[in-house]
Amino acid sequence: MLRTGLLVLAVAATPNPPADLLLTGAAVYTMDPVRSWAEAVAVREGRIVFVGTAKDAQAWRGPRTRVVELAGRMILPGFHDAHVHPVSGGVELAQCDLNNLPTSETVVAKVRDCAARLGPDQWVVGGGYALPVFAGGLALKDVLDSVTGSRPAYLTSADGHSAWVNSRALANGGVDASTKDPEKGRIERNENGEPVGTLRESAMRLVGRHVPPPTAALRLEGLRLALGQLNRAGVTAVQEASASRAYLETYRDAEKQGVLTARVTAALGTDEARGPEQVDDLARLRTEFASARVRPVAAKIFADGVIEGRTAAMIEPYLDRPGFRGEPNLSRDKLTTLVRRLAAAGFNVHVHAIGDRAVRETLDAMEAARPEAAGRDLRFQIAHAQLIRPEDGARFRRLGVIANFQPLWAYADSYMKDLTWPALRRELWAYLYPMRSLVRSGAVVAFGSDWSVSSLVPLEGIQVAVTRQSPDEEPSEVMQPDEVIDLPEALAAYTIGAAYAMGLEKQTGSVEVGKRADLAVLAENLFEVPARRLGKTRVLMTLVDGEPVYQEPPPNK
Ligand SMILES: [Zn+2]
Repeated sequence: MLRTGLLVLAVAATPNPPADLLLTGAAVYTMDPVRSWAEAVAVREGRIVFVGTAKDAQAWRGPRTRVVELAGRMILPGFHDAHVHPVSGGVELAQCDLNNLPTSETVVAKVRDCAARLGPDQWVVGGGYALPVFAGGLALKDVLDSVTGSRPAYLTSADGHSAWVNSRALANGGVDASTKDPEKGRIERNENGEPVGTLRESAMRLVGRHVPPPTAALRLEGLRLALGQLNRAGVTAVQEASASRAYLETYRDAEKQGVLTARVTAALGTDEARGPEQVDDLARLRTEFASARVRPVAAKIFADGVIEGRTAAMIEPYLDRPGFRGEPNLSRDKLTTLVRRLAAAGFNVHVHAIGDRAVRETLDAMEAARPEAAGRDLRFQIAHAQLIRPEDGARFRRLGVIANFQPLWAYADSYMKDLTWPALRRELWAYLYPMRSLVRSGAVVAFGSDWSVSSLVPLEGIQVAVTRQSPDEEPSEVMQPDEVIDLPEALAAYTIGAAYAMGLEKQTGSVEVGKRADLAVLAENLFEVPARRLGKTRVLMTLVDGEPVYQEPPPNK
């Protein structure tokens, strides 16, 4: 008793410098190691200085403290998006934006509008169309020709693995019936071998390389649009999933102008055509572009494509393409050598792997790189991880590999029903996005949106993770009920788990004293919201370093 008394006296004798900001009367889900709850958070100089009861928080109140009474609303750590494309997605928003259009008619109408605003020889550029709006995922040039006039057109699918091009664009690229499919790519053709207007994977570059690249100004404008949407959804940190030098310049421009309103961890894109010598170049980029808000500490490798386009690397052949099981982008040897070199240079290795074979070979490469990784505290991660055999699922935890899932994909939508299931033996359906298996195995699971491939709203992904149903409010088919996770697990994956994947878990990802004040304030306590409405929960305020980067406008203005 005596000791306690002395301690209280000692604390009381050192008055706290008052907080800049006091959020109180809230339901604070701290995401600390024991998942404790609190009522108030005090912030000073961008850091959290107090987490506790509303009563104790009063000690932090001074004459200049901004006090926000939250009347039971929820505070969470800001969401961390572990795999997202803010620059390319933002450029799409600033160009011909085909995202979220439900039918081929609406897509075509939008392209007509875009084209009408351009000069007669200007490229129609943009993207975001959903593959399933076109039968068989096949977008045709004739349709595009009819609305683009004389202009060449190059439009990418939402998943980024296909391009829809018109006749003029094919001519510009010199692509015709005599053009061979490039390695790791496919020109979709009619029965006469003539290109029909869809290019897959590396074949996209046949035309794409003729498209004028976005200017620095367009990239910056795109990034600002993207950050606006991310902050509005409660996101405070992003892992840029494939950064080039140009993208790093865009982040630097944004930071210089004071508009970089999220923390950025960048995964530097690797080039499959080059060998491990490129690692030195990446290391130079890491040094050149590291700043207060930008950490280019990861490297991205594409191990394969996507199941929908039959470009993912599978253990067994696709059911609808007898004998064909896709090919990894890199041979086992090349992948292993590159991963080992990246680990030796201290990079967090971030691999896109979708097919079960790509996942397996990536785990093999990461296992082989353990000597290089030893003692370096690297964050190896497999992004998307769509099809995982159980024996490989068990290896994530053992090897310390993070499963970087996109939860919004884990339900029976048309990508799944029309383009994925038909390619897989029925028994394999149980191994699609096995989130619960991974979480319960003790592996670190991180969530990300892969925007602009799909919606960037974390709460929509969280809703799907806890229901495995469509993000609509109506009940629908539950895909693999055994892989449903619970709300604390889903929230952890989008906060502290993703922070860990970025190497930020000591600075952000939970509401704890000493961490940066990166917070999201929600209109409702998610634990009191029906699961099928989670995705619709409003974000009232988003803070980065204690500064509001988004605030919901007051009602009835
Ligand atoms: Zn991606």
